[in-house]
This record gives sequence, structure tokens and C-alpha cells, in this order.
Amino acid sequence: MRSYLVVPALVLGLTAPATQAQQRSMSPTPATPITALVIHGGAGYVARDALSMEDENAARADLDAALDAGNAILSSGGTALDAVEAAVQVLEESPRFNAGKGAVFNAEGGHELDASIIAGHTRRAGAVAGVTTVRSPIALARAVMEHSPHVMLAGGGAEAFADTRPEIERVPNQWFDTDKRRRQLEAAQSKAQARADTAGEPGRYFGTVGAVALDQHGHIAAATSTGGMTNKKWGRVGDAPIIGAGTWADDRCGVSGTGWGEFYIRNAVAHDICARVAYRGDSLRDAAEEVVNTIVPAAGGDGGAIALDRDGNIAMPFNSGTMYRGWIRPDGSRGVAIFED
Ligand code: ASP
Repeated sequence: MRSYLVVPALVLGLTAPATQAQQRSMSPTPATPITALVIHGGAGYVARDALSMEDENAARADLDAALDAGNAILSSGGTALDAVEAAVQVLEESPRFNAGKGAVFNAEGGHELDASIIAGHTRRAGAVAGVTTVRSPIALARAVMEHSPHVMLAGGGAEAFADTRPEIERVPNQWFDTDKRRRQLEAAQSKAQARADTAGEPGRYFGTVGAVALDQHGHIAAATSTGGMTNKKWGRVGDAPIIGAGTWADDRCGVSGTGWGEFYIRNAVAHDICARVAYRGDSLRDAAEEVVNTIVPAAGGDGGAIALDRDGNIAMPFNSGTMYRGWIRPDGSRGVAIFED
């Protein structure tokens, strides 16, 4: 728990009662700066025996590398925004997660990538949807935030904006291909011949990646990046790039979601978790549990979320059997996990 230094002038009887402006300037200041970081590599349904030891170790190593990347920034006094971008970029580069390299295929056999990022204390945000040639969609989302007057750019417009940013690396769409995702597309398409629509059918592995961080300045940022859902069509956009649905941060709470995006959009999942903390005084844990494990399933959806508050509390609820996740708490304790253990 963070402790606070508050000037107890009134208690000491030294001064007259503070004016409102004085009270504002006396807002709690952390005695000792703390940091915390939580990441995810997607919720889903992976049976223990379906995951080889080699794949499990490789995924755990990627999660550890993402924690290291974010933590290196936080522990040297860097910003939560830089930390979440760095952590997400490690996972975008890994072929094991559904973001960047390794993104799922859409119905046409290509990839359309979504991402968003938000700084809680300024509420500045950037997002891209349906980009096809951007190696790191989270970097482009951040560029939208910092170098455009907009929050969200989509499709050809987002690609045109990327053309104006020399720091944004471009790749051919096939660069995102992996054999595993192609097999998943083939399986989804053969099921689709038997059913009207498999997009949104439970029982999949979602695989989106995300990060939420608290920095030494007491600021929170959140980021999410994804290839969306296998076999998606018609330019489908999920929750990941939608601020308030898949990604949210304010000055006391941040969230990144992973799951069946349509339900995360309909229920404004990421924002709802933080709103419960802000308006009802719910603990982070109660807020995240209620939204992910009651509200989303009651509506017919599934998935998980990672959440973090300004005291460094972390919540990682999921209702899908697995969620690849990792955390570093303010006391430095850290871990990675996949199953419910
Ligand atoms: N939420 C993502 C989407 O609906 C999928 C995921 O979490 O993997 O696009």
C-alpha cells in the first residue's frame, strides 16, 4: 500500500482552515514513489495438455521479456506510457500472440490490426483500426495521440497517416502470417460452412496483448493491441482500439481487456471497471471481478481483463479458462501465469 505525506497544519493548530485552492494544492503526495506493471497475452480456452512444454515455456519467456521491457522504463523513472508501449511491442513481435507478428487471419486470408493507448492523468489517447502494413500498431496508435489532432484513425486513412511518420516501420501484410494462425483460419472456415457464422463462437483462443502501468509520478497508462478475431469480415473492428471498451485509464485506475470484443464494446468494459472504482469506491478487485465475471457472461460474452490502480493493486480476472498474464507488484514480486493456478 502506498503511504501519503499530508501536511497536518490544521491538526497542529498552526494556521486558519485552508481555502479550497490550498486544499487542492495539499493533495496527497506519495511518500515513496511506487511502480507496478501488469500485462496480458490474451484470454482463451487452452487445455493444459494441448499446450506443449516447449510452447508454454516460450510464451512464459515472452511474457517475462515484456515485463522486463516495461519495468526497465518504470524503475528508471520513465513514464507509464513508455512502459506500456514497450511491453506491448515485445508481445507484438512474438509470433505466439495475436498482435503484430502472429495476428489472426481475417476471412480474406489477410490481417487487419487494431490498437489503442491512453495516458490516464491527461486522458490523451490514440487508436488505430484495420491497419495492414504497420509492424507495430501500438506505435502508430501513440503517434495518432501525439502527432494528430484525432483519437482514432481507421483503414486507409490510418495507413496514409503512417506514411507521414518516418519512425513507423512498414511491412507487407504477409509478414504477419504464421502457420498456426492459418490453420486456425482453415478450421474456422470449415466450421463456418456448417454454421451461419463462427465469428464470436466461444471456445477460441483470443490472444490479444495489453499492458497497464503505474509510474513513479503516480500516473497510469494502458495499451492494447490485437489482430482481432479469426475469420472476421466486413472490416470488423473489436474492442481493443475503442477507448472505454478494450482500453481505459484515468488518474486512479487503468484497464486492458481481452475477450469477445462485441460484448466488451456493448458493456464499455474497461471504463466500467474504473468507473466503479471512481464513483462507487469499489476496490479494484471487486470492480474488475464484477464486470468480467458477472456482467460480461450475463450478456453472453467471455474473456478477461487486467487492471491496476494508483496504489499499485492489480486484478487479473478471466472467465475463459486461460489468460496469458504477467505482473510486477510495487514490492517487486513478479510472476507469469497462463492457467487458473
Ligand atoms: N478483444 C479482441 C477482439 O474482439 C479479441 C481478443 O481479445 O483476442 O478483437
